[in-house]
Amino acid sequence: MTAADGTTVVVVGGSMAGLLAARALSDHAASVVVFERERLTEEVAPRGHVPQGRHLHLLLAAGLDLLRQWFPGIEEDLKVRGAVPVDGHRAWVHQGGAYRARGDWGRPVLCLTRPLLEHVVRERVAATCGVTLESGSLAERVTVTGRRVTGVVVAGVERPAGLVVDCSGRSSRIAQDLATSRLLMPPITRVGIDIGYSSFFMRRSPDDLEGDSVVCIDTPGSFRAASVLPVEGDRWQVALGGVHGDVPPCDDEGIHAFAAALPSPVVGQLLDRCERLSPVATYRFPSSQRRHYEKSPLLQGFVTLGDASSSFDPIYGQGMTSAALQAAALGEAARTLGVLSPELPNRFHRKAAQIIDSPWRIAVGGDFAHPATTGPRPLGTAQLNRYGQRVVQAAHVSLPVARTFNRVLQLSDPPAVLLRPDMLVRVLTSARRSPAVTGDAVSHPRVGLDTPD
Ligand SMILES: Cc1cc2nc3c(=O)[nH]c(=O)nc-3n(C[C@H](O)[C@H](O)[C@H](O)COP(=O)(O)OP(=O)(O)OC[C@H]3O[C@@H](n4cnc5c(N)ncnc54)[C@H](O)[C@@H]3O)c2cc1C
Repeated sequence: MTAADGTTVVVVGGSMAGLLAARALSDHAASVVVFERERLTEEVAPRGHVPQGRHLHLLLAAGLDLLRQWFPGIEEDLKVRGAVPVDGHRAWVHQGGAYRARGDWGRPVLCLTRPLLEHVVRERVAATCGVTLESGSLAERVTVTGRRVTGVVVAGVERPAGLVVDCSGRSSRIAQDLATSRLLMPPITRVGIDIGYSSFFMRRSPDDLEGDSVVCIDTPGSFRAASVLPVEGDRWQVALGGVHGDVPPCDDEGIHAFAAALPSPVVGQLLDRCERLSPVATYRFPSSQRRHYEKSPLLQGFVTLGDASSSFDPIYGQGMTSAALQAAALGEAARTLGVLSPELPNRFHRKAAQIIDSPWRIAVGGDFAHPATTGPRPLGTAQLNRYGQRVVQAAHVSLPVARTFNRVLQLSDPPAVLLRPDMLVRVLTSARRSPAVTGDAVSHPRVGLDTPD
């Protein structure tokens, strides 16, 4: 069946996953109604039910590519509103003891705040033919007849639907209710990382970092990280992170001490140089979590995507892009099968599981390099982490490795491309030349024209 059937799709949750699912399905259903519990306003600001919106949100290249397809002109629109494109020529990424080789890493990423991104995507979705956004509307539960979901209840009123898409986030009440009533019980995997974030904004002037852009630092062994990204409003958005209880501080003295102890002096120097513009926001993220719908008998007329299905250690910046890739897969399943097809939930969740596998392996695999990480390890994690260390080292000196590695991290290519024979040879030969291996001095960027070399 197709759009001509008059089918209504209901999407629960009007955050990134819900908005993108609505856009992807709008081509294949007569109407799509998005229910968002929070009353949404025109203000571009973090909102209560998406508290992570106060923290740094990187949209990876694969996500940006989908946004460009769904919303023609959105990249230019975001740039006009202050989003900053960053490419491999202007980025400083310190990882594993040195900086990644700079040059052409492929498509630039766009740096902007999460509230701005969500706001612009929401404007576009609200203007999409056939899509209605009902904010201030809590979906209390789904209605079920036999093994088919038939709609949702909002403010005590049943709203029938041919397909219900749960995009209500990691602690989805719908998922919990369906599990409690034993109707839908996907196995759940959790990998404990207990990451703590401290985030804030600083004023950015054009000659900070001599006009260059992004800094990501990790500390081998301690797993501390810091990112400083340029965002709209001539600001730097800063995130400091630590794992397994190593929570970054939120007072001035503590923040400076944390930054000063990183292996690159750049973050500390930028903090000394730039004026802090906001209070410090904090966040604790206990574990990556995955509901394995692909391993469960499913309900007809019901699918789940975004954080409600899988949420990853945020340090890798994958959540929104993974949601976008899943939304595209849902749109494709609806195109080929029709939104009412009894086969759609199975087809979609099998494909979604493949999509989730890449970010899951990158995030969870990386997290298992820390001995305190808990939960089931994906097969081959120790060997892949050893090879991953070589990739990081090779990327210090080899631009082709840096480019391929970047495409994997941006979810544009699967991790398997790093294991192709030609890449394997390049990685193993280049890694030996990394300053992290040879002990050669690493030169750091200057944070300002007035900074001594
Ligand atoms: C600290 C931190 C940093 C992050 N950094 C990045 C990053 O750099 N890059 C990246 O891509 N991702 C990042 N993420 C992950 C990203 O925030 C999520 O993956 C993304 O928001 C997924 O969105 P979602 O729509 O699935 O869920 P959410 O954003 O959690 O939204 C769920 C929505 O559903 C609504 N809702 C809930 N229940 C109901 C109901 N019953 N009825 C109606 N509405 C309901 C809520 O109000 C909310 O709007 C980060 C996460 C954290 C915690």
